[in-house]
Amino acid sequence: MDIDRIAVHESVAKACPLEAMVAALQGSDVPVEAVGDDASFDAGDCVVTFSPRDVFLDAAWVHGIRAGYDEFDVAAYETAGTALTNSTGIHGDTVPETVVGYLTAFARRLHVYRDRQGDADWTHEPYEAPFTLTGERVCVVGLGTIGQGVADRAAALGMDVVGVRRSGDPAENVERVYTPDELAAAVGDARFVVLCCPLTEATEGMVDAALLETMRDDGYLVNVARGPVVVEDALLAALDAGAIAGAALDAHWEEPLPETHPLWDHESAIVTPHVAASTNRYHEDIAALVQENVERATRGESLRNRVA
Ligand code: NAD
Repeated sequence: MDIDRIAVHESVAKACPLEAMVAALQGSDVPVEAVGDDASFDAGDCVVTFSPRDVFLDAAWVHGIRAGYDEFDVAAYETAGTALTNSTGIHGDTVPETVVGYLTAFARRLHVYRDRQGDADWTHEPYEAPFTLTGERVCVVGLGTIGQGVADRAAALGMDVVGVRRSGDPAENVERVYTPDELAAAVGDARFVVLCCPLTEATEGMVDAALLETMRDDGYLVNVARGPVVVEDALLAALDAGAIAGAALDAHWEEPLPETHPLWDHESAIVTPHVAASTNRYHEDIAALVQENVERATRGESLRNRVA
């Protein structure tokens, strides 16, 4: 594959400044330029983008700057013969650190005190409310880059870590690995269930009313995967009924989450606007991946993170 232009689509601005991404990609012999929706592409182009566009199928290769590529029509890429790569592998610190933040907030009640701070409210949570993460069980669903990062941090905090992965193979810092068909058993004893899997046909709606019913009533759900992995109505009903203790949601069914959505002021929920992976070095992490693949393409080698 001969790449003679790297076109950075303006949609990357959803994750990092466009100019920073263009600058970070400079340095090889391949010219880099920012492009908008009026651009056209040819077989010498690599497109770096946040969002898909049909016209990208004319390029040689499209790099999505997120780990999830559920918005891209993989079959269309395969038919067109256009390579598609994703950004799996760079979120092993950011998202797991955010997850540690949610777990710590729930256990130490930080979200409650932050909500009260504006009212200069000195009220203490009930005696039975705070707990320690040490000794609590977390079930990590999906043991890829993010899931392993969560498992490593949870183990370092003295948590009892179990996980779910398709192969069922052992994973570092995970005491017991379940397969997806054992999901109910995996979440049953967990104080925290952390979703770190991709959105696929198999995972869409995976966390439904029945699974939420299986969870402990003092358990917390964390979704840093994709919104539709969880059944929205079922989660809202479980939170309203106190069937689970709370949920931290970074990924939502509709983004931005509508202003009128009940989760915004649900006292058992922590809502973040899909920022678990944010970092002021995102452009550098993406540029390193793209540049490695430009070199691989030049040498005629297969692309890293190729999904189509
Ligand atoms: P990854 O590819 O490294 O890991 C995903 C893992 O999930 C893989 O090991 C895969 O085998 C496993 N998996 C697939 N189906 C499964 C199932 N049914 N049950 C259990 N495990 C299953 O990807 P990653 O970088 O760890 O990212 C995971 C997902 O997190 C992405 O697909 C994306 O949707 C989401 N994500 C969200 C953010 C955010 O900002 N909130 C950022 C990055 C990624």
